[in-house]
Amino acid sequence: MTLLEIDTVHKRYGQHDALCGLTLTVGRGEIVTLLGASGSGKTTLLRLVAGLERVDSGRIVLNGALVDAPGTQGLPPEKRRLGMVFQDYALWPHLTALDNVALPLRVRDGRDAHRHALRMLERVGLGGLEERCPHELSGGQQQRVALARALAVRPRLLLCDEPLSSLDAGLREELRELIGSVVREHGLSALTITHDRREALALADRVGVMEAGRLLQIDTPRELWRHPHCEAVARFTDAFGPWSAQIEGGSLHAPWGACLLSSGPTKAPPDGSVRLYLRAQALRLEAPTHALWQARARVLSSVVTGAGVELRCDLHGVTLRLPIAEALPVGAELVLAIDPAQSLLYSHGTEQESLSA
Ligand code: ADP
Ligand code: MG
Repeated sequence: MTLLEIDTVHKRYGQHDALCGLTLTVGRGEIVTLLGASGSGKTTLLRLVAGLERVDSGRIVLNGALVDAPGTQGLPPEKRRLGMVFQDYALWPHLTALDNVALPLRVRDGRDAHRHALRMLERVGLGGLEERCPHELSGGQQQRVALARALAVRPRLLLCDEPLSSLDAGLREELRELIGSVVREHGLSALTITHDRREALALADRVGVMEAGRLLQIDTPRELWRHPHCEAVARFTDAFGPWSAQIEGGSLHAPWGACLLSSGPTKAPPDGSVRLYLRAQALRLEAPTHALWQARARVLSSVVTGAGVELRCDLHGVTLRLPIAEALPVGAELVLAIDPAQSLLYSHGTEQESLSA
């Protein structure tokens, strides 16, 4: 069942189209996460859903009721029953954690407000810290207060705009798990924004990729990573490329060699030029076997990361970033084994011609 329906929504600021006929739904109990470059319209979309902005055309339906469309009054934000968490916490600096959570509740719940606020603070792991003011709390703790406040109003839908982006990695993971578990245990829906692909993968039932006010694709994380419908989504989901390739008589000619197109379940792309993308999983540094493509790459740099080394190497004009155990000397040549079955191929337009089974 659909909780939120955003139907062909257009939003313009002056001469600039922030959203261009965007359509998106969020089901009951579903977590939808939006990815997209800065300026692609993600915050605008959330502000429209929240009722902080009005649509220029299209409509927004929440819980079966029309809440925004041109020529209507529009349901004001406070009547939409939404919880909101933004990047910059937006806590009242002079109020304690408890009052920050309880204040929006007072009107609604009367004297139960404090008790309920306390429960929510305990739920987000802040039991005992309720009398502290924001400046006496760490960034992660402040964001927990903001989350408790958003959840305390018992929202139907939680809206999160990059709530974790100002936190460091460990805290981010912890809070992401907290948001996921709280949303699920209360049977809430959530529409969240992040620029962190790992966060999107870990949290979301469906992930949408936005570009220039449009939703390019929305799918389960698995489907999005396996079958990006267009090159922009392939790039956004960390595929390497493009390389120019040719399809001729059932063979795929990549810059490093040709191979027969497998007769898998997906239809073979027509003859002609294609652009080829590959994911890291399709590339191996091990000794290649005869069944695979082999290609020579040149080491550009080795960057030490927490877990190991990220190797940057050039493969026919495209820079690859691959995790390896030990640094390799700059300029060294290495032979990569490439699995052609994992090729992502795009001909003209945005249609995907994928070889992967
Ligand atoms: P994102 O959150 O994906 O980074 P935004 O939704 O904030 O993107 O912005 C989308 C586009 O709309 C940007 O080009 C931005 O400059 C523009 N924009 C957003 N809000 C306003 C505003 N209040 N006035 C004018 N332009 C705006
Ligand atoms: Mg934004």
